[in-house]
Amino acid sequence: MSNIFDVVVVGGGASGLMFSSLLKDKKAALIEHNNKLGAKILISGGGKCNITNEFINEKYFLGDSSFIKSVLRSFDQNVTLRYFHQKGLKTIKIKNNQYFCENSAKDFLDILVNECKKHTILLGEELLDVSKVGDIFYVKTSKRELNAKNVVVSSGGLSYSSVGASDIGYKIASKFGHKIVKTAPALVGLTLQKEQFFFKELSGISCDVSIKVGERICKGSLLFAHKGVSGPAVLDTSLYWEKGEINIDFLPNTKLEDFRNSNKNISSVLPISKRLATAFLSHLDLDDKKVASLSKSEFEKLKNIKNYRFAPAGTFGYNKAEVTKGGVDTSELNPKSMMSIKCQGLYFIGEILDVTGQLGGYNIQWALSSAFVAANSINKE
Ligand SMILES: Cc1cc2nc3c(=O)[nH]c(=O)nc-3n(C[C@H](O)[C@H](O)[C@H](O)COP(=O)(O)OP(=O)(O)OC[C@H]3O[C@@H](n4cnc5c(N)ncnc54)[C@H](O)[C@@H]3O)c2cc1C
Repeated sequence: MSNIFDVVVVGGGASGLMFSSLLKDKKAALIEHNNKLGAKILISGGGKCNITNEFINEKYFLGDSSFIKSVLRSFDQNVTLRYFHQKGLKTIKIKNNQYFCENSAKDFLDILVNECKKHTILLGEELLDVSKVGDIFYVKTSKRELNAKNVVVSSGGLSYSSVGASDIGYKIASKFGHKIVKTAPALVGLTLQKEQFFFKELSGISCDVSIKVGERICKGSLLFAHKGVSGPAVLDTSLYWEKGEINIDFLPNTKLEDFRNSNKNISSVLPISKRLATAFLSHLDLDDKKVASLSKSEFEKLKNIKNYRFAPAGTFGYNKAEVTKGGVDTSELNPKSMMSIKCQGLYFIGEILDVTGQLGGYNIQWALSSAFVAANSINKE
């Protein structure tokens, strides 16, 4: 294996596999330190991998919107679906906009892996270092040294170390002079302050909420968990939350005034579970009595349920986070090629970048679109 590779790809996840599968007439090696490819794909979307969304748009991502827009436009959701349908993938649309694999994420992974068989695949081999002398990269793994004209870093973020996450991509980027935007766990549950410890008794209950975080509103389901709060609305909130308060409306489709004259008890009229209503009333120090009998100030107190302010203590951490926000600063990459503007032949794709999407197939789509842009550029060489 002493010959020079056209490309060495670091990481066999969604972005590295898509990139490798799109390479034409190039001699490439794909390094993956797990003993199998695409481990994260298999656990994505509850085993069915939500590969894209009908409404792919830069506004659903954190990061430089013009960079993101340019990359997504090159390989959008329609092209993605056409590409994989042509290769035999069956998808199913859920909630009117999210495309999942109809049978299993393995079907999606198998297509990618099949297309990569033409390359040298080095499994169970950890990338340790990359250096460059003249026009050639020296790629050091736990088992050998490879020489390459181009290196594509697709090693992902820090989330879910159980399926292979590492910081190697950030180390390589820093070594070649790239700025790293501060990373943090995202699409993750939020932990509680002492004042919200009563939430813990509600573990297992879920309800529809609307959460205000900064200028953003995240809607969907909230799940009370033992460690804090989780569920789709909270995961999206974590993308935009840094520190400070969030406001939760536990009755997003209800006007409390509509019940003002009701002769029924509060916990009977509120369209939430009785356990949740009772816990809230006790937290607000209100008796569960007829709504009509509440004094003006008691009714005002009740309104807290529609504007519950709380400052999360933190997040459930990287090992529970679906993605890592922050990462390699995109201002130092060319959006037409994903190549570093600091080092000819060095590319970054996928989650390693400072681009993070909401729940709903946005992150896999980003992995695929950024991989396409890099492959398209290298194919033209
Ligand atoms: C539980 C879960 C569910 C998710 N569900 C969805 C979903 O349904 N839809 C969606 O859009 N997104 C989902 N995501 C997010 C999505 O899976 C990721 O954003 C996407 O897979 C990132 O792809 P990537 O190729 O950039 O990185 P990864 O998939 O993380 O791939 C990086 C690869 O690099 C390898 N690697 C790391 N360091 C080294 C090293 N030193 N040497 C060699 N190899 C190395 C890793 O083992 C890994 O295989 C989910 C994430 C999780 C954790």
